[in-house]
Amino acid sequence: MEEKLTEIFGIDVFDEAVMLERLPKKTFAALKNTIDNGEELDAQVAEVVANAMKDWAIEKGATHYTHWFQPMTGVTAEKHDSFISPAPGGKVIMEFSGKALIKGEPDASSFPSGGLRATFEARGYTAWDCTSPAFLKEDAAGVTLCIPTAFCSYTGEALDKKTPLLRSMEAISKQAVRVMQLFGNTDVTGVSCSVGAEQEYFIIDKAKYLQREDLIFTGRTLFGAMPPKGQELDDHYFGTIKERIAAFMKELNIELWKLGVLAKTQHNEAAPAQHELAPIYVTANIATDHNQLVMECMKKIANRHGLACLLHEKPFAGVNGSGKHDNWSMVTNTGKNLLDPGKTPQDNLRFLFFLAAVMKAVDEHADLLRLSASTPGNDHRLGANEAPPAIISMFIGEQLENVLNDFIAGGTAAISKQIGWMNIGVHTLPELKKDATDRNRTSPFAFTGNKFEFRMLGASMSIAGANTVLNTIVADALCTMADELERAKDFDKAVVKIIRRTVEEHRRIVFSGNGYSDEWMMEAERRGLPNIKSMVEAIPCLIEQKSIDLFGKHGVYSKIELESRAEINYEIYSKAINIEARTMIEMASKLYIPAVIKYTKSLADSIIAVKTAVPSADVSVQEKLLKTVSVLLAGAQEALDDLREKTKEAAAKEGGKTQANYFHGEVFPAMEALRRPVDELEMLVDKSVWPVPSYGDLLFEV
Ligand code: ADP
Ligand code: MG
Repeated sequence: MEEKLTEIFGIDVFDEAVMLERLPKKTFAALKNTIDNGEELDAQVAEVVANAMKDWAIEKGATHYTHWFQPMTGVTAEKHDSFISPAPGGKVIMEFSGKALIKGEPDASSFPSGGLRATFEARGYTAWDCTSPAFLKEDAAGVTLCIPTAFCSYTGEALDKKTPLLRSMEAISKQAVRVMQLFGNTDVTGVSCSVGAEQEYFIIDKAKYLQREDLIFTGRTLFGAMPPKGQELDDHYFGTIKERIAAFMKELNIELWKLGVLAKTQHNEAAPAQHELAPIYVTANIATDHNQLVMECMKKIANRHGLACLLHEKPFAGVNGSGKHDNWSMVTNTGKNLLDPGKTPQDNLRFLFFLAAVMKAVDEHADLLRLSASTPGNDHRLGANEAPPAIISMFIGEQLENVLNDFIAGGTAAISKQIGWMNIGVHTLPELKKDATDRNRTSPFAFTGNKFEFRMLGASMSIAGANTVLNTIVADALCTMADELERAKDFDKAVVKIIRRTVEEHRRIVFSGNGYSDEWMMEAERRGLPNIKSMVEAIPCLIEQKSIDLFGKHGVYSKIELESRAEINYEIYSKAINIEARTMIEMASKLYIPAVIKYTKSLADSIIAVKTAVPSADVSVQEKLLKTVSVLLAGAQEALDDLREKTKEAAAKEGGKTQANYFHGEVFPAMEALRRPVDELEMLVDKSVWPVPSYGDLLFEV
């Protein structure tokens, strides 16, 4: 544990340095060409890489390898194969072929496919994503070589979250390069997206966690009254980190650094027992892999410390839930951040062009972004009583807003690239300070100096979906704008015209005020911005013609892939609520109600005992309590019966949309109706008879 950071960083990664050291020059060059330029990988090259990878992994203790992929479950999947192969004389040799590196064939039939399986073969294929480096995973199973892969059906339909992400990265690169070429930056041949995902999470005591079925089965508390203290004192945010948590964080960092994850920042978050980890940004697909590893390591390492890590979006009612901030920008292969305003007017103009494209993208496809942040858990945050609001708007800061206003107001003055000066209403943009004071924490999509921060994602989600949408919608906006620019006779004039018109058409998406206020709800409605309140209401946009056209045009999702994903989303929602409802039924009928019945008996016994001992004694306190508790108990039983009924009814519904809507509209409210009397009872009943740890126990006793 005392090893130097620089020495342990990336030691479990088959990264470029290792490849350079272990691959023949020609092989390395060929692989690098595939990684950087997407050239097809030669089978012979794969053979050599596989062998080097195997030797490296075995030296580090590996016995198995796995294609590591990201099916629609949202968590990663792996099937381990050992390197052994029979050899003459009853012996074995360690083998790993190029074929095994490039392609795997896990059985796809047990992963969500949203109907794709009915149409196509159950067989699924994993294909090596060589742009994300292979790594070693160390756990009780030993050391395993993990090869990041994409997961597709026999006929090439994506069955995972990675494939569409990679396709969207190609799409945005293509369009951004076109724009850069038009701007005269002929040296730009590729544009990638940088992503840094800030991860929020809760850490609680494992022993207490194990006493709560709701946490075990659903990841959140389905019952629980607020303790006298919540987060109102704001004393947890950035507070001193408790010793036990610090030890966990230390080991987590080391584990992540070994995996090449640039874990950078850690701090306590707003709610008690809540924390955050932020890495330094990397390319979108690697950031996606890394975020999955972060989540996995958090759980694994918490466990080693007798702790439990909760990644659910809303583990506890009444205190903040957990989100994930997706910081996103575009970077050229020449190292230029296209969301950096830059120092020259020429750079400024290009920046405004890209900024306008993002505005257009977010305004036109707010619904898709909203969906990309939807999980059953996030329904408790978005549009409920907590940040961020469900309405998508964009914050760009006062400075930039003024610049855009000036820009629109300015006439079509002549612009000259040659003399490096242009009258675009502004000469050079004022330096946009990264830590400008006007940062808006209530905006779901905020410009923060040289990147956008999409703040709606839920803590448990893969970031692949959101970045796939973001990349595609920006690619599309750039495409439309580039088409026009290409046709223009006068580039300089056309650029200004396009930016001006795009900003004018889409400025309704820009909002700097308080995103949580009621005024904004009304204002957003006036502006015609969608306010999609729940996951089930968000799903239909996926299969609208406009989405089918969009994703089809850029080769990100085919129509059937979209249809299958809509189906999977409905399924995910229904299953999640069904499990929650059933857990509530179980807990209420086997734990809470029996405990309260026992308590009422002890109250009744006490009344009788006191009366017997002293017939004139005042037992009004016990009597009153007994009455109140009995009323709530009856209420709980009634709500339980109702929930049972509704859950049964839901199961009988036709799957897909109908069922999901029923779960959302009928079962979910029935769950809340059961929670209410039980939580009230928790406040009345003797703590010693309460069958599970309280919020106070869970949140404050780590
Ligand atoms: P903030 O305080 O705005 O959240 P930080 O600088 O702490 O800003 O960054 C938060 C996250 O954003 C980090 O993961 C960081 O690596 C990432 N980030 C910073 N710059 C970029 C960029 N250009 N593109 C993508 N992500 C970025
Ligand atoms: Mg942030």
